[in-house]
Amino acid sequence: MTYQPPVRDFVFLMKDVLKLEQYSSLKGFSEASMDVLEQIIEEAGKFSAEVLAPLNAVGDKEGCTWHPDHSVTTPKGFKEAYAQLVAGGWPGLGAEIAYGGQGLPYTLSLPFSEMSSSANMAFSMYPGLTHGAYSAILNGGSEAQKDLYLPRLASGEWGGTMNLTEPHCGTDLGLLRTKAVPQADGSYRITGQKIWISGGEHDMAENIVHLVLARIEGAPAGTRGISLFIVPKFLPDADNKPGARNSVYCDGLEEKMGIHGNATCVIRHEESQGWLVGEENRGLSLMFVMMNEARVGVGLQGIAQGEAAYQAAVSFAKDRLQGRSLTGPKNPEGPADPIIVHPDVRRMLMTSRALLEGGRAFLFWVALNGDLAHVHTNPDERQKAHDIAALMTPVVKGYLTDKGLQVCSDALQIHGGSGFTEHFPASQYMRDVRIALIYEGTNGVQALDLVGRKLAADGGRAVMAFFAEMDGFIDAHAADDDLKPFVEGLASAKAQLQEGTMWLMQNGLMNPDNAGAASTDYMHLFGLTALTYMWARMAKTVQDKIAAGETDPFYANKLVVGRFFLQRVLPDAAAHLTKLTSGSDLMMALPAEAF
Ligand SMILES: Cc1cc2nc3c(=O)[nH]c(=O)nc-3n(C[C@H](O)[C@H](O)[C@H](O)COP(=O)(O)OP(=O)(O)OC[C@H]3O[C@@H](n4cnc5c(N)ncnc54)[C@H](O)[C@@H]3O)c2cc1C
Repeated sequence: MTYQPPVRDFVFLMKDVLKLEQYSSLKGFSEASMDVLEQIIEEAGKFSAEVLAPLNAVGDKEGCTWHPDHSVTTPKGFKEAYAQLVAGGWPGLGAEIAYGGQGLPYTLSLPFSEMSSSANMAFSMYPGLTHGAYSAILNGGSEAQKDLYLPRLASGEWGGTMNLTEPHCGTDLGLLRTKAVPQADGSYRITGQKIWISGGEHDMAENIVHLVLARIEGAPAGTRGISLFIVPKFLPDADNKPGARNSVYCDGLEEKMGIHGNATCVIRHEESQGWLVGEENRGLSLMFVMMNEARVGVGLQGIAQGEAAYQAAVSFAKDRLQGRSLTGPKNPEGPADPIIVHPDVRRMLMTSRALLEGGRAFLFWVALNGDLAHVHTNPDERQKAHDIAALMTPVVKGYLTDKGLQVCSDALQIHGGSGFTEHFPASQYMRDVRIALIYEGTNGVQALDLVGRKLAADGGRAVMAFFAEMDGFIDAHAADDDLKPFVEGLASAKAQLQEGTMWLMQNGLMNPDNAGAASTDYMHLFGLTALTYMWARMAKTVQDKIAAGETDPFYANKLVVGRFFLQRVLPDAAAHLTKLTSGSDLMMALPAEAF
């Protein structure tokens, strides 16, 4: 079974649900009409399915190879596929036109990101990290740095990495030790060890630009003393071509559970030459601006792996003959019925589909708000969009990757014993998706960011705006009989989220452990509510189409999946509310020695 790009779903979301045409006069959105966008999605789907997907299992089996000269070879076929990626201009889709990109807003580049990640997550991380480095320099770099690095990162000729993690510091970057010593020429000498650096060394790009967090000698301890540096593997020469080798080396690769085709590197900076990005000691905040986009990108990996795994499960469920349907044979000529007839298999397929389609809509909506926060011409709209994007980003990352793992696990379950073997792709999807719950800030840390920072920001303005937006939908469609289950479902989800939010405000401040103990359940309640809102909007869109005479089953099927979401997925909200409001007493009661 080969990966089928869900082109129809992207077009439905972008054209019909989010109605992106209404933004066609805004910066970036004006670069691509809906027709052009559809062509881009088609081509991106072809590239992903035909070039990247066939290399997915190859990358998994072969992995990357480290050599004693500190070089790394990627799996067979990756280098050629990367050359095609660059030749096709795909890395520049979301980069500024001034730097050789195509100037599309992030939202319009999401279909390519999802499809390439579904087809080959390990491969897609190389351009993904490069875009992260691009964004960090765009956001904080000097004009000279932008002119030098951005065109090369946008084209993909040069790769990019993010060097944050050290052996003793992952979540707690305040412990970071890598040091930077200022030089007379304005550059810095950087010394320290970084670990688990994705794409830290490879053979696909002519240069690699490391974005490195380090502490300038004498800087304050903790997070206030961290600065951001550009450290290229090859120092650009007078013509801006890769010149002398910089003293930044890959000392080895990590053996790991999944994404074997992506080089996860131990990186040694031995007085490597680097240049400060932005101001001294402002590195972490620069990095966080970039990380918001990266976190949406990781949420996308949850959907992308889930989609690919779901497709494999559907194909298996139609093929595998076991047992008979409870309501009489559906394949009387055969020795047994295909397992897709069994309600328990359907339970997993329908739940997966409801989560994936709702989750994808959520992701696109949040990304759209992220774009509008920058380009909307009305300052009030910019503010509102910024609030929604900031509030929802940890939910996109944490909830969608938790659910992505659930979908991959169910897809493996549908494969039975075959899923546990390596003859089928289900195992790889599950192994690959697992990291998405950990990197770019673990899901536990996303939940803490949501309850600790995002919820309280500006006196709770963002969450109030979300409640008001849902109320607007509920009020506008209260009298619509066809939409009744969706309006009622949304009203119930919203009421529960509101109750959970009130509980947190009252009890979280009183005892911070209450907030910590509630955070993951609160994030899931938030995710469920957001997906209910998305399903309500999709249902409204579909019903308008059907009322206008549309007979394509694509639309009627959406309504069935949406109603299944309300019936079988949304009820989890009540359990999350009960758990989150039970406080931290029992959770924290035992002393550490009792474990
Ligand atoms: C394959 C792979 C690729 C990676 N790529 C990169 C990369 O390109 N660049 C880079 O810089 N890093 C990268 N990382 C590192 C990654 O970002 C970290 O692993 C991640 O941020 C978690 O840090 P940690 O592993 O040190 O876990 P820890 O911080 O030690 O956390 C361990 C556990 O404790 C919990 N925890 C920690 N602190 C708190 C707290 N305050 N409250 C509640 N719970 C807490 C965590 O949620 C987690 O469950 C990568 C890691 C892997 C495995």
